[in-house]
Amino acid sequence: MNAFHSPYPTWVEVDLSAIAHNTRLLRQTTGTAVMAVVKAEAYGHGMIAVARTALAHGATWLGVARLGEARQIRLAHIAAPTLVFGLLTPEEVDEAIANDISVTLHSFENAELLSQRAAALGRPVHAHLKVDTGMGRMGVLPEEARRLAEFACASGRILLEGLYSHLAEVDDDPHAALTEQQMRRFVQALRSLEEAGLRPPYVHLANSAAAYALPAARFDLVRAGSAIVGLRPFYYAAFPSAMRRSLSWHAQLADCKRLPAGWNVSYGQEYQASGEEWIGVVPVGYGDGLRRQPGNQVLIEGQRVAVVGRVCIDQCMVRLPRPLPPGTRVTLIGRQGDEAIYVEELVQRWHSSEAGVTAGITGRVPRCYRT
Ligand SMILES: *Cc1c(COP(=O)(O)O)cnc(C)c1O
Repeated sequence: MNAFHSPYPTWVEVDLSAIAHNTRLLRQTTGTAVMAVVKAEAYGHGMIAVARTALAHGATWLGVARLGEARQIRLAHIAAPTLVFGLLTPEEVDEAIANDISVTLHSFENAELLSQRAAALGRPVHAHLKVDTGMGRMGVLPEEARRLAEFACASGRILLEGLYSHLAEVDDDPHAALTEQQMRRFVQALRSLEEAGLRPPYVHLANSAAAYALPAARFDLVRAGSAIVGLRPFYYAAFPSAMRRSLSWHAQLADCKRLPAGWNVSYGQEYQASGEEWIGVVPVGYGDGLRRQPGNQVLIEGQRVAVVGRVCIDQCMVRLPRPLPPGTRVTLIGRQGDEAIYVEELVQRWHSSEAGVTAGITGRVPRCYRT
């Protein structure tokens, strides 16, 4: 991954062959249909590129959080079935109906709205009924699922395409009692729909972690974001050896200079050169997603070097072991020789999540794709 010459001061490289590999691996391991979750620019990896790659390698559905994301997918001429997890405004409901985008049915008020808009447009709306089994976020309680499904079907305007829920603890704890409880509540809701003759074609519960660790949660479809893009699905285990990482983040050293002892570096006077020091200027700041937290390091010439002084919005400074020419490769996430800084290290340092780190790399950092 080191030969790539970039015209950019900083850029993210995404290895699409790793994403293809991860999609095939998930499909084969689970033996279940795969929904590639590509919300938030596929956690910063690039929504359209990841969507196309996943669809070409075994995914059949796309999942996003917002209607605007589904719109971008349709504008890219991707016709694959696409589900929006999040809430839609009335205007967005119309757009979803017009563009064959599946929506989440999460309450009785929402069913009224969906059926009303579908009637107005003279076209049915495809919906996945969301049950809250213990996440306390969107959805009806398990005992309300049947009544909502009956209400939706009676409207004649809402085509019940799916039933789903989301697990709250499966990423963090393989033995969480809550996960078992959520499974039971979900199956209870499913049984109640089956008894009413309303079992929809797509029943789904598993995210990446559950898809791998909890076969009973697979049902008809697994919804995977992390496992597709190559982020660790479980926080309690090391990066799975069968999966491949796809993202790395680099920059070119912008400047390198010798500062005299005692010279201040950056805002707030938190760092002064202790002797004569070689200080490098890296064109990456918190406006790019590098958080202003103590302890940041980057790789230069296969070695870890410390970020010194506060991270600025566009730049940060590093203490170099010796003078290095501008253009020298700086790696913020990824590997150089035998050293690597992976996302999990930043998760620790920044008290964030895996997707939180990569989705936090802002839009002004160009994404470069390898195939
Ligand atoms: C984000 C999201 C997912 C994907 O989660 P991963 O852990 O990244 O696989 C699945 N389902 C829902 C409802 C989500 O919001």
